Amino acid sequence: MPLGSLVVITALVCATSAALTRRAPCPDGVHTATHPACCALFPLVDGIQQTLFDGGECGDEVHESLRLTFHDAIGFSHSRGRSGGGGADGSIMTFADIETQYPANGGLDDIIHMQERCLSQCSGDGSISAGDFIQLAGAVGVSNCPGAPRLQFLLGRPNATAPAPDNMVPAPFDSADVIFARFADAGFNPDEVVALLASHSIAASKIINPSIAGAPFDSTPELFDTQFFLEQLLRPPTHEAGLQRGQTDSPIEGEMRLMSDYLISRDSRTSCTWQSFVNNQARMANAFRNAMAKLAVLGQDTSQMIDCSEVIPEPKPLPIEHSQSVYPAGFSNADVEPLCAATPFPTLSTLPGPITPVPPVLPS
Ligand code: CA
Ligand code: CA
Repeated sequence: MPLGSLVVITALVCATSAALTRRAPCPDGVHTATHPACCALFPLVDGIQQTLFDGGECGDEVHESLRLTFHDAIGFSHSRGRSGGGGADGSIMTFADIETQYPANGGLDDIIHMQERCLSQCSGDGSISAGDFIQLAGAVGVSNCPGAPRLQFLLGRPNATAPAPDNMVPAPFDSADVIFARFADAGFNPDEVVALLASHSIAASKIINPSIAGAPFDSTPELFDTQFFLEQLLRPPTHEAGLQRGQTDSPIEGEMRLMSDYLISRDSRTSCTWQSFVNNQARMANAFRNAMAKLAVLGQDTSQMIDCSEVIPEPKPLPIEHSQSVYPAGFSNADVEPLCAATPFPTLSTLPGPITPVPPVLPS
């Protein structure tokens, strides 16, 4: 090939690439977007922030919205095909009267109703499907939590045509084998399960033990940090009283510890991945972003979807005093049960001050 032809081809490739990434002004005169279809999402994102998340907080509604992305998407099965559900298709909202009856979806009614209202009222003249809305609200909500990665958002999920069947969502009382098998059937390996569990850094339990409703899974439910992975490794207390099915005792007062998290943190298949996230914010955030990108499009034809990730706000970094994993007051390396023999456990400092219970997360 003559050199001149090569130069022409290279120039064409560069021009095509530039055209693909060029941002065009949106009709609102404020935003720009790489695809015109993304423009309609900017006012919707503003509406979600104001209506669902109190102007941009990382509170209970964000936790529940993130939980909803998972409970909608995981209704998907390679082995069962369409009878296993349509994945991230919005079925949990479209067929809420059926899917919220499933025990694993307990407590999701409130956030589904809030999101349904916003879907009809926040979107102005641009309407999106329930499946798109659930994943969009989840990604916007996560962006309010300092330390979180900016999640991908693809637009274009068709409306759900049927509810997902029951028993697709892993339960906190399931064994690690059962949980890994369910995730494998949806296309996730055990390491990706651990990555998805980073969601428990910004989560609280509502229904597992009503006597401690709102108990978070780590001491910093308003921050997407690595505390969850550290605090789960603290040795449990010997007294176990008042525990509910799916719960195991946490040594930190006010904190909820799920039996499933406890088992996965100590399972030989995942203990090293679990430990690798302790005090490694970038590694954890990156793994979570990748696993969420997969989860958010389960059952969808991504070749028909438009990448509108640009509408998701850029999350703030962690406050400097939370940039490292730290033991809660009263704990130290002596309290850790490290189960990964391959790598030494990091040496971490202890938060100064008195031992204080973790307060519950309550709806605003
Ligand atoms: Ca679904
Ligand atoms: Ca946290």
